[in-house]
Amino acid sequence: MYITAIYMSLILLRFLPLQIFINNEWHDSVSGKKFEVFNPANEEKICEVEEGDKADVDKAVKAARKAFELGSPWRTMDASERGRLLNKLADLVERDRLILATMEAIDGGKLFSTAYLMDLGACIKTLHYCSGWADKIHGRTVPMDGNFFTFTRHEPIGVCGQIIPWNFPLVMFIWKIAPALCCGNTVVVKPAEQTPLTALYMGSLIKEAGFPPGVVNIVPGFGPTAGAAISHHMDVDKVAFTGSTEVGKLIKEAAGKSNLKRVTLELGGKSPNIIFADADLDTAVEFAHIGLFYHQGQCCIAGSRIFVEEPIYDEFVRRSIERAKKYTLGNPLLPGVQQGPQIDKEQFQKILELIESGKKEGAKLECGGGPWGDKGYFIQPTVFSNVTDDMRIAKEEIFGPVQQIMKFKTIDEVIKRANNTTYGLAAAVFTKDIDKALTFAAALQAGTVWVNCYSAMSAQLDTFKNVDSQELQMKFQNPTLNIHN
Ligand code: ADP
Repeated sequence: MYITAIYMSLILLRFLPLQIFINNEWHDSVSGKKFEVFNPANEEKICEVEEGDKADVDKAVKAARKAFELGSPWRTMDASERGRLLNKLADLVERDRLILATMEAIDGGKLFSTAYLMDLGACIKTLHYCSGWADKIHGRTVPMDGNFFTFTRHEPIGVCGQIIPWNFPLVMFIWKIAPALCCGNTVVVKPAEQTPLTALYMGSLIKEAGFPPGVVNIVPGFGPTAGAAISHHMDVDKVAFTGSTEVGKLIKEAAGKSNLKRVTLELGGKSPNIIFADADLDTAVEFAHIGLFYHQGQCCIAGSRIFVEEPIYDEFVRRSIERAKKYTLGNPLLPGVQQGPQIDKEQFQKILELIESGKKEGAKLECGGGPWGDKGYFIQPTVFSNVTDDMRIAKEEIFGPVQQIMKFKTIDEVIKRANNTTYGLAAAVFTKDIDKALTFAAALQAGTVWVNCYSAMSAQLDTFKNVDSQELQMKFQNPTLNIHN
């Protein structure tokens, strides 16, 4: 049944539109160029997609601007109707969940089961969540001095450029479009060049849901061309970007050099995960493992600096190695496979080079440490112990299945070491002591701090987390719930 369903999805993939989506229509690129898309599990070409560039971005921005004009169907639509459209889109994603999950597996090397359950689940919930917000965005009345009646209105920003990465192609697509649409904006989305397929499929669902033409436009293409055209565009009012810190800097620079558009950035991480000796060791080992190895380590929030208190260090390392050795690697479409390939050759080589640097700089390679198989970009689950803060593997974002385990002795020491990074995305602490938990929740300089859990995410807390807010998240795992299975 499972295999038949996947086989059917593979056949349906042949009918996927591979063009640029503007005004609810499919377009060839102005330049006539196409680019190739590969399956990272076998390095074979899947298809060719029309390659968007500046001229295509201009067309898409024009369409988005027109759809945003006062009096347009989108601007005159009731807010509740915007919500209904988002709900409709959620239902269509649910209907085609199998196809979308299969595409994520083929295009991005994501485990089919993970894509189906986690990614698609998150997409559907996020769409429903945002649909509920659409008609609940209120202003305030303000008691201004003098004889005035004053009120505020929340207005959409306008045309939003949205540039997304390859590690969660569909989740990122939905996380970007859903909040923007629920507030009444129009969007021009550029999926990552490695993984454009689910975004293109979403174009057909957006049309089917009944969004007016021009509200969502999708321009597949490369970063320095299509991406840069969005970030430099004088008629784009905001750019939302998820990706590398390097490119994040370019996006801010482009905003400064063009129309000072607003920018939200969600960038890389080298997140600390602190395990105290009083923590439940089974829970801590498991969350530290999943917090790093989930999706082959290709997560910006990966807990890639694990600090373990001295008395339990050796036992923690022993159990972590045992856990990492249990993996079955292989084709992400197949049942029973627990780790797929890295996204492409560039990432694959970068990870192997960092593993070599770890060995050279004196970390102890406990398991893994090299490629796996003779085809595809697979890397063995790798664990390093005796890692010190000055090593490259302790400082640079590896974005692969490589775990670094460090030792600490005191609270003051570990707070300083955990915060000694240029990143600040996420952090976690494992302890049964509520005083320590609260101390760390406040002391760790990170946007999200998890306590006795890792990577706990939900539409209610994460959808708007990047939206111009300084609010920090602290999530406590209820010790009576067994959320990991
Ligand atoms: P990664 O290192 O994870 O591939 P990138 O930051 O390079 O992350 O890519 C994330 C997204 O940013 C992709 O859609 C990519 O095409 C885009 N991008 C890359 N370079 C630029 C750029 N100069 N301007 C705008 N977008 C870019």
